Amino acid sequence: MSRYCQVIIDITAEQVDRLFTYRVPDGLELTIGQRVIVPFGPMKREGYVLSLSEETDVSEEKLRDVLRAAEDYPAILPEMVRLAGWMTKKYRCGWAEALRLMIPAEMRGGRISEKKIATARLVRPITEEDRAALSRAPKQLAALEMLSAGPLPTAVVNASHPGVCRVLADKGLIRIEEEETLRRPYRAIEEERAKEPPLTAEQSRAMEMLLAAMDAGGAAMEGGRGRFLLHGVTGSGKTEVYIRLIRECFRRGRTAIVLVPEIALTPQMVNWFRARFGDDAAVIHSRLSAGERCDEWRRIRRGGARVVIGARSAIFAPISDLGAVIIDEEHEHTYLSEHRPRYDAREVARMRAEEAGAVLLLGSATPSIASYMRCMPGVKPQNRFTLIEMNHRVNGRDLPAVEIVDMAKEFSKGNTSIFSARLQAELKKCVAAGHQAMLLMNRRGYNTFVSCRSCGYVEKCDQCDVAMTYHQAENCMRCHYCGAEHAPPRVCPECGSKYIRYFGAGTQKVEEELHKLLPGVPVGRMDIDTTREKDSHERILSAFRKGETRVLVGTQMIAKGLDFPNVTLVGVVAADMTLNVPDYRSAERAFQLLTQAAGRAGRARETGIVIVQTYEPDHYAIRLAALQDYRAFYHLEADYRRKGLYPPFTVLARLLATGRDEDKAREAAERMEKALREWLEANAAIEHDVIKIHTRPAPMKRLRGEYRYQVFVKMFSKGASDEILTEMEQIAEESVPGVRIDLEVNPVNLM
Ligand code: ADP
Ligand code: ZN
Ligand code: ZN
Repeated sequence: MSRYCQVIIDITAEQVDRLFTYRVPDGLELTIGQRVIVPFGPMKREGYVLSLSEETDVSEEKLRDVLRAAEDYPAILPEMVRLAGWMTKKYRCGWAEALRLMIPAEMRGGRISEKKIATARLVRPITEEDRAALSRAPKQLAALEMLSAGPLPTAVVNASHPGVCRVLADKGLIRIEEEETLRRPYRAIEEERAKEPPLTAEQSRAMEMLLAAMDAGGAAMEGGRGRFLLHGVTGSGKTEVYIRLIRECFRRGRTAIVLVPEIALTPQMVNWFRARFGDDAAVIHSRLSAGERCDEWRRIRRGGARVVIGARSAIFAPISDLGAVIIDEEHEHTYLSEHRPRYDAREVARMRAEEAGAVLLLGSATPSIASYMRCMPGVKPQNRFTLIEMNHRVNGRDLPAVEIVDMAKEFSKGNTSIFSARLQAELKKCVAAGHQAMLLMNRRGYNTFVSCRSCGYVEKCDQCDVAMTYHQAENCMRCHYCGAEHAPPRVCPECGSKYIRYFGAGTQKVEEELHKLLPGVPVGRMDIDTTREKDSHERILSAFRKGETRVLVGTQMIAKGLDFPNVTLVGVVAADMTLNVPDYRSAERAFQLLTQAAGRAGRARETGIVIVQTYEPDHYAIRLAALQDYRAFYHLEADYRRKGLYPPFTVLARLLATGRDEDKAREAAERMEKALREWLEANAAIEHDVIKIHTRPAPMKRLRGEYRYQVFVKMFSKGASDEILTEMEQIAEESVPGVRIDLEVNPVNLM
């Protein structure tokens, strides 16, 4: 038994981001990774034991005792303690911030109690003597017989024989104990697809490569031989590869983690995994109730699940003996955390895989430029990935034919509808044939902005720098950034004119236009507005799967990973919306969105048709997505990034100063720029790695009533970017009253 332990206090403040030594009282047995309650100043705090020792340099009078253990097991596995340490360096965060990611939020502060229920179990097997002794008490005997198959909640036993448990316990035949029950998510999902289809040639080859790597040491091997990028066209059967790989992990006594990008995708994936793996599969995601999340976590921690499926945070699942870490739709930006610590789940996954000697498998039909680049010749061994390609659809069908419709021509022909003549005709044909269609509209609401025809005034949010969206269903103007709402204007607040016009279309408008075009045809809509409730995604998708709705309208939520065999038509109503976002990644995002959307058509029976409506029919992202030529797109896009000095060739970072007082926010940013420039001048060797520094208002200057100024820094990724970022972090630590400072590195959103 160790006499002292070194503890990280669960407070995220820089001053306490270090180890504090406590005495371990007699009789208390602690292990590394265990959470403890300790006195801290005048308070009690939770902490994490990071090490134990027999001796200490801390003087006796300063030492205090650990009060107790928070749990009787280490909540943080030893490998996860190491991972947290790596994160503190990689993401420049405190230990407490990193360790907090590794347990459910509700476990901290003892906010959730384990749900316990009274359970009855036999003290020993029933004998013939027992049966004889109870021959006059048939109900008691029946209860014993019930329990001979295994323990049951007393409520269940008492339901048929009220009070019987008490009596049997008094006789010493059974024991009643409070036991933890587990709330299981997704109980209602029907288990289908349990069959195991024979693999296609491409799938078999992928499996051979993956298994050879798993058995040879996985990601711990040098030169990227255990790290894979699976580039498989939509419908090539990537999920089946994941499933088989997991099965092979189990065969070897190992486990797996599968990350999926978004909640909307999870019900279908979970369904498949549950069907194949039953209780071996655990699901973690944010839409579970707090209790459900804690229960799944505990079950995993106890070894009760062998594969964990979840969104980004599932990469911190407390599971040991990993054999594979799989990231589906690896190009999705949801793998980047938008809060501190701003980690990239793909990088964390790589660390976990290397540590465990597991295979790392990233899969996508449209890999991110950065990941694909790692598979190219000439990449340094420590960055390298091995490419696996699956170029054919499982059903042998061709990829759907993609037609581009030039909306400018459509307009000049006198068609002012949001649907081109071509799309209208195909929609009618599709529905008449008894098939289903999906329409992608990457903006929600009814009209995207409201403006005055006589003076040009645009209705904006008074807290943010953006136009407000008109929502017809609720007849209100809504800000998509802060959620503010108010009634639509009747007269122009600027000039008093009554000529208020509504422009731009969103999903609600598309839904309404569909009702006009296809009267009586049931239509589903999936966007943030229709999916606020807990199981709403699954409800909308299941109505569509059952054919209760014939057309599904939605934002990018519907473009991913979903598999509906009866869909033969996919329409992209306004492809330019993604393209026109001012961000160096807009072409990549448009290409991804179009390819993924196109991949929804013709997955089973018929070859599908995809109609892409655009004002920029010649843009390379649109043209190459229509041709479904990822490689050609990759080469053009990589070239554009190289010449334009964009990531992954460079690192973009910003110090964002946010505050109610505009002058203070701006001054804080200016001061930070000055500090950074001075530091660079003093470090001449590093200075030439910086391409650009400037201080400007952020593209979205106001958000939720606060002003935002940024020091934008562009630097070569090969050079001293780490040192520069560390200095920026230091600068960000200097506090300015009334101003919040954030360092963002390659943020998902540059607004
Ligand atoms: P992807 O994720 O690559 O787009 P999926 O994994 O969704 O493709 O697979 C497409 C469809 O093909 C699914 O319905 C899946 O069940 C089916 N499938 C996958 N592999 C096979 C196989 N070897 N034999 C028959 N059907 C398969
Ligand atoms: Zn006006
Ligand atoms: Zn707003």
